[in-house]
Amino acid sequence: MAGRYLIRTFGCQMNEHDSERIAGLLQSVGLEPASDDGDADVIVLNTCCIRENADNRLYGTLGHLKSLKEGRPEVEIVVAGCLAQKDQDLIAERAPHVDVVLGTHNVHRTLDLLSAARQTGQQQVEILSAAAVEDHELFPSALPVVRERGHAAWVTIQVGCDNSCAFCIVPSVRGPEASRPFGDIVAEVTRAAAEGVTEVTLLGQNVNSYGRDLTLRLRRDAGPDDAHLAGDAWAAAVDGQRSARPLFADLLRAVGAVPGIRRVRYTSPHPKDLRPETIAAMAEVDSVCEHLHLPLQSGSDRVLSAMHRGYTAERYLERVAAARSAVGDLAVTTDIIVGFPGESDRDAECTVELAAAVGFDSAFTFIFSPRPGTEAAELEPLVPHQTSVDRLARLRIVLERSSLLANRDRIGMIEEVLVEGRSKRDASRSSGRTRQNRLVHFPTAPALRPGTYATVRVIDATQTHLVGELLDVLAVPTHRTRIPVAAG
Ligand code: SF4
Repeated sequence: MAGRYLIRTFGCQMNEHDSERIAGLLQSVGLEPASDDGDADVIVLNTCCIRENADNRLYGTLGHLKSLKEGRPEVEIVVAGCLAQKDQDLIAERAPHVDVVLGTHNVHRTLDLLSAARQTGQQQVEILSAAAVEDHELFPSALPVVRERGHAAWVTIQVGCDNSCAFCIVPSVRGPEASRPFGDIVAEVTRAAAEGVTEVTLLGQNVNSYGRDLTLRLRRDAGPDDAHLAGDAWAAAVDGQRSARPLFADLLRAVGAVPGIRRVRYTSPHPKDLRPETIAAMAEVDSVCEHLHLPLQSGSDRVLSAMHRGYTAERYLERVAAARSAVGDLAVTTDIIVGFPGESDRDAECTVELAAAVGFDSAFTFIFSPRPGTEAAELEPLVPHQTSVDRLARLRIVLERSSLLANRDRIGMIEEVLVEGRSKRDASRSSGRTRQNRLVHFPTAPALRPGTYATVRVIDATQTHLVGELLDVLAVPTHRTRIPVAAG
């Protein structure tokens, strides 16, 4: 198959990873990347339904592609991802010029569906539930992959989610949690390391409940001899089979031990499932980075309860304190939603107070907007938009101050940096990430290329990034060694 393809990815790292798989499939049959729509023969829109106005943006893009297809009828258009999984019939009806609609569980079918559309001249719509596909299809690690960054790999360890956060559409589009077999994950990381990958990010909707469904499978598979056991007795029996039930911590240790892997990251954990074993693994495995992204969402117990988050502000603080005391030099980042239905001034103040108490290294903040199909979309009273804007501004003052202080604390330190490339604003500078995931800009050198490790002395800091001077290329202290040097 000759020609070019273009993939537009919306949404989270899960989608970015799926897009890498789709790119791998398209390149495996001879297609090459295109620079824009006009240059492409296959256009894939990998959609997300979490972001605000996702459907409006999709239909806007499809409207533009309709005119393109009228001029070049041979162009093939694919809509994939969460929005396709959720609204397949609507997309098919509103955009008959789309050739293929496929969901989140059948990325591996992309080429077959394109081929069927070509041969029949008919639009192909195929959406599968997680239960309808085998493990090797749910986690298509055998598919070719085109990594956006050759030295870094996303590795899916789990799909779906068993929680029911009131604002989130994920459980209804991605289905219940399904953990990928332990050995398959380690094998994929080992293969990636052999291909030159040194940094892996373990991906899942709720990574630190990894393995919980494997426990449930044990329960289902236990057979009639164990059928009389219930409740605690079952838990004890299952605990007795501990070796057959890997935890996320076991995975961190196994992946962290793969030769060639220098950095292990993961996203996203849930505060209620952050176990002591995970914290211990972070503390003990050198390659696991000192960065914990722990979504808070709100600092008010009342709002957390309405969101069905399963923890209180106090419990969140305890988990952060436990992680910080065990893992030296830990950066903690978060997500916060402002203006959830029913949020009062006092609730918003609780969030500000909790943010100040934690002192986050950085945070993503969002003003609540209802997602159709979620419980929160039906909740009242809504918070007036301007009130949410004001509350967010107040929260941002606290968050920006703590980011600036945390970055300034790094001045004078020597950091290990994984180079991502030249700075977008200044080609005389390179940019990279520290183990804590802080962005660093520093003067470039001929030996620096994406994937190179360097040591950099931090000489300045802003709220968003560090400024450094290059000390050495590839002469990296092993793993988490960081050498404090007096400022000035
Ligand atoms: S834990 Fe909550 S927010 Fe995260 S994917 Fe599951 S339901 Fe959504």
